[in-house]
Formats: sequence, C-alpha cells, structure tokens
Amino acid sequence: MLSDQTLLHILTLSQDATAVYDSPDLHICFVNQAMQAFWGKTGDITGKPLVIAVPELDGQPFIGLLERVWTTGETYRATDTPAMLVIDGFPKVSYFDFEYRAIQDDSGQVIAILHTATDVSTRLAALQQVAEKKRREEGLISELKRSSEDIRETNDYLSAVNRELIASNARISLLNERLQESDTNFKRLIAQAPVAAMVLLGEDLAIELANQPMLDILNRDETAIGRPILESMPELKGEPAVELIFETFRTGKAFDGNEVPVRMKRNGLLETRYFNFSYRPLRDSGRIIGVMDLAIEVTGQVRARKHLEAIISEKTTLEQNLRANEQRLQRILDTMAEGVIITDAQGGLTYVNPMAQKIMGVDETELLQRKYDDNRWQNERTDGTPLAMEDHPVYIALRTRLSLYDQEIAIVRQGWEKLYISVNAAPLEDNHQQVTGCIVTFTDVTNRIKLLQQKDDFISIASHELKTPVTTLKVSLQLLARMTSGDPDNATTKLIGQANRSAEKLSALVSGLLNSNRLSQGRFPLNKTHFNITDLINECCQHVRITTGRVIDLKETAPAEVYADEQLIEQVIVNLINNAVKYAPEAGQISVSVCPENDSVRVSVTDFGPGIPAEKLPYIFERYYRAGQNNGLIPGLGLGLYICEEIIHKHGGHIGVESEWGKGATFWFSLPS
Ligand code: ADP
Repeated sequence: MLSDQTLLHILTLSQDATAVYDSPDLHICFVNQAMQAFWGKTGDITGKPLVIAVPELDGQPFIGLLERVWTTGETYRATDTPAMLVIDGFPKVSYFDFEYRAIQDDSGQVIAILHTATDVSTRLAALQQVAEKKRREEGLISELKRSSEDIRETNDYLSAVNRELIASNARISLLNERLQESDTNFKRLIAQAPVAAMVLLGEDLAIELANQPMLDILNRDETAIGRPILESMPELKGEPAVELIFETFRTGKAFDGNEVPVRMKRNGLLETRYFNFSYRPLRDSGRIIGVMDLAIEVTGQVRARKHLEAIISEKTTLEQNLRANEQRLQRILDTMAEGVIITDAQGGLTYVNPMAQKIMGVDETELLQRKYDDNRWQNERTDGTPLAMEDHPVYIALRTRLSLYDQEIAIVRQGWEKLYISVNAAPLEDNHQQVTGCIVTFTDVTNRIKLLQQKDDFISIASHELKTPVTTLKVSLQLLARMTSGDPDNATTKLIGQANRSAEKLSALVSGLLNSNRLSQGRFPLNKTHFNITDLINECCQHVRITTGRVIDLKETAPAEVYADEQLIEQVIVNLINNAVKYAPEAGQISVSVCPENDSVRVSVTDFGPGIPAEKLPYIFERYYRAGQNNGLIPGLGLGLYICEEIIHKHGGHIGVESEWGKGATFWFSLPS
C-alpha cells in the first residue's frame, strides 16, 4: 500500500493537471506542475487559497463553481470552457475540459475537491478552425446557395425575360408580317381601288404609288411613278387642284373637291377635265410625309350636265321667247282690226279674238260653242244668193288644204243687219300633214259693200236714165244723116259720122255699165238655144276685121255646137277679140281657135302683144280692175272681163288667161256642149 506521500508524488508527476482543495475557502493542498503551468504560476503556491494564488480567476465563474461543489458535494464537469489566465505577464484565454470532483468522507462530508483539467485550446482551436472552416464553408454554401438562388432567380428572370423577348420577337415579327401584309394590302388596295388613287411623298410630292385609273387620268404610264408630280407633268403647275395637294402637304389640312376643273393634256392638246377629289395628309409620328390623293373623273357627267344645263337654258330662253312671242301674238290678236277665228278639223270654233266677237256681235263663250256653218247664221253671197256649204271658204280650206283670200260673203243673223265680211282662210296642219283645223281672218266690209251697192244703184239709175237720151241722140243722128246728101266727103256728113261713132261709144259704155250692174246683182236671165259657136265667132271676126282692119286667124278643129244664150256669148267673144285688138295694137295677127273637148267647147283668143305681168293675172277678172301700163292711153272701165266671167260662170263654164309678160296673151273660155 502506497503512502499518501508517494501517492501525492505520483500525482505530481502526472501529465494531467491536478490540484486538490481541502477547505471551503479553497486552500490549495496539492497542485502539480501541469496545473501550475496552466495557471502560469511558479513558486510554491500550496496552502494558499486559490483566489490568492491565481487572482485573475476573481470575476470568472470558476471560484463560484468550486464553492458550490464544496457545498453541494456534487461533482461538476465542463468541456471547452475558456479561462483567462495571466501567462508570462500577459492575459491569455485558453480552453479547458475540467472536472471538480467532490471527495467525501464516509459520512458524506466533503473533505476535498479534486480538480483535473486538460488544456483543450489546441483541439478547440483546431475544432474552431474546423468550425470556422465549416462555418465558412456553410457561409460559402449558403452564399453559394444564395448565389445559385440568385442565379436561379436571375435565370428565372432571364428566362422570363427571354420568354418575353421571344414573345415580343414573335409579336414583332407578327407585326412585321402584318406590317408587310398591310403594306402589300395597302398597295393592293390602291392598285385595285375603283377610284383613281395616288400616294405622293416628300416636299416635291414624288409619286410613290399610283393605280391604273390614276395613270389613265394623268395620261401617263408607270414611268411617272417615283418622279415628282410636276416634273412628269409640268403643265399642271399653277392648277388650283394641284396647288391644293401642296397645301395639304404644307398645312396638313384635308381637302375635298367637287367637280373641280383641271386643264390637262390629252393627245397633245390642253383640255379641261373635271374631278371629284379628296386629299388627305399622310403622317409618320405626327410629321407630314406625304399626301394621299383619291380622285374620280366626272368630266362625262359634268359635260352632260353642262350640256343639259345649256339645253335647259336654251329651252328656257326659247320658252321665254315663245312666251314673249305668245304675248306679242296675243296682243296682236287682241288689238287686231281683223277678226281672227281658229277652228278644229270639224269646223268647231276653238279661238276667237276680241275683234271677231265684235264683228259677229257674239261673245267668246257663245262663239266657242258654234261651228262655222252654225244654223244661227246663214251665209250668202254678196249678190244675196245662198252660199252653198261646199262654197264656204272654211269648208274649202279644210277639204282642199288650199288657202283662200278676199272671199266676200254675207252673214244673215236673226234680228241683225246683214253683215258682209271679207274672209281669208288657211288650213292648219300637224307634223304629219294632217289637217287639224283652219285659221280664218276677216274684216267687216259691210260699209264698203253698201257703198258699192249705192254706187251700183247710182250707176244703174244713171245709165238707165242715160240710155233713153243716148238712144234718142242716135236716132236723131241717123235721121240727120239721111237728111244730108250722104256724100262722104261732105263736111256735115263727116261730122254726123263722128257724132254717130261717139254716140255708139257712149251707148256701149252705158250698156256696159248697165250690164255689169245687172250681172253683179245676178239680175239677168239666160235665153239658151242650141247654136253653132264657130258660126258666131266667124260673124264676130268678120265684124272686127271690117271695123279694125286686123288679120284674125280662126282655127276650127270641128263644128262645135253649144247650148247657151247666143247674145251673151257673142258679147263675151266680141269683148275678148276687141281687147286683143285694143291691147296689142302693133302685133297684127290675132288667132282664134274653137276646140271641142269631151263634153265642152273651148274657145281661145290669142294676141301677140305685150301680155300681162304674172303678178296681175289673179286680178284680171275683177270688177273695175285694169292691169296695163298703157291704160292711161287706152280707154276702158275695167268691166269687160268681169262681165265675161259672170256670163260664162252663169252658164256653168270656165274662163281664164295664160300670159307671159312681153309674149302676148291667150284668153279662153269653155262652155258645156
Ligand atoms: P277695159 O278693157 O275696159 O280696161 P277689161 O275688163 O276688158 O276692161 O280688161 C281689164 C284689163 O285687162 C285691161 O285694162 C287691160 O289692162 C287688161 N287686158 C285685157 N285684155 C288684154 C290683152 N289682150 N292684152 C293685154 N292686157 C289685156
């Protein structure tokens, strides 16, 4: 068995640091060298309280822990515990695993504390290094983790951005495609537009796009595209419609034009054409880059409309003229001194002017209900005989389409004085030459006719009164002639002969006047017999040959018998032959012919004198009419031919004249055989 001393000595040599405390105030009863090295204390510290031997432990937890072990008897162990100890004069923190073991006696009373300790600073440093490394590693790892998270996040973000980018790219390329598509569509739209379309770009308005209708309007081909508009079409400079395109470019103002005239070249010639157009500015980011021009040529419509307007204005002028003419005509008709009546094709009155109403003494309303042959008035000839319907001037004009002039008729109305009118009547025809009516103008000649009648009455009375003294004169002269010797050279006989011839002339004039009056009044009965007219003509010719010494050539084709008043027909023949003698004194020959026709006989008397001017022929048979220029020298009353006509007409025959001025005249008449 080892002694306490030996045991302590062994402990002294132990590598493990050991100290023993044997009192509650921790007196060091044993400490080996290892422990002293830990504490950094040299010399003998045995027997000293720990806090004195190692004063730097004051304020550290160890003293308190030891005291509690002493008190409680419970062993206390700790590892890796830092303790600050002053080593070689410098405080140093070292780490220890240590144990405070309470050593108890049999009664359990603590008698000592065995303190063992191991310096674990190196291990701890290693451990700390490891821990540090680990911490750093962990830090790195977590850093790495964070970074990789960051990277992942960045990656996520990037891939999101990428996706976005791809999507945007897709969108952009889609937009691009659409842009291209819409560009193509736009170009196609322009090309196929039903109206003329053109896109002009830049300040000089270069033609960027122009469809075919626009090129047609401009009368240019595709070479015009790409060139400034005024460069390829200098003639458009100054045209208001073109100036407006420039204004649209300058101001951005849109313009719409309607039927604007533009002077353009067509087949080398400048001509005005008309357009409806629309100019719109084209902008890029708000900046004006060009002008869009849409146009429709309306030259055809405008010209047609202008033509129509011209026609309408011409029509209006014509209508105005027509209205003015109508008014003038109406005025004329209203104020005319002649009565005017218009009838329809059946003779019904459709218009009467105021003078017609006045002459007729019937108002318009009443007149417009009548026909020209209304039985409320009777038509007569001026000689008082009834006028047959077919001899009425209106009837003749409507039936024959001939115009009649100066037809004098009488109108007998109940309770009114007899009215004489001089009538002109002319047919009215439509475009198809159909008779649509008749226009009648007439004047009231009642006064003139009355005067004529008075004159006729006077002549009738005067000639009747003259007849007896002239006859007495003639008889007296014959008696006187008989009473003289009859010697033709006797002066008295000559005077008597002269007086006799004058009395004869006077007698002829008086009977002419008397006859004409009787004839004009229709007051002569016909004493008709059958006789050979050639014989009668022969007698007459003989008589004229003897009295005038003129050559009369009678041509007879066949014996001609007529049924007529021989005396009156003789009067006609003598009158015609006498006229031939009178009016053709220098032309010796007179030719008379008798020519039997189908159911009539025609007698002609031809002379080769001056003849009758054409314009006077229509009046030659009128009463008192004298045509010749020598009438001043040739005596006459203008009654002979009038009487002839009356006699021939009374026989139902015809009488007429053919003559050419300077080439003689042929008077003829025909009688029913
Ligand atoms: P008058 O002989 O008394 O004048 P008439 O009735 O016989 O009357 O003739 C009318 C007119 O016709 C004449 O004044 C004359 O101017 C013209 N006339 C008649 N017979 C002839 C004729 N044979 N040649 C030329 N003129 C004629």
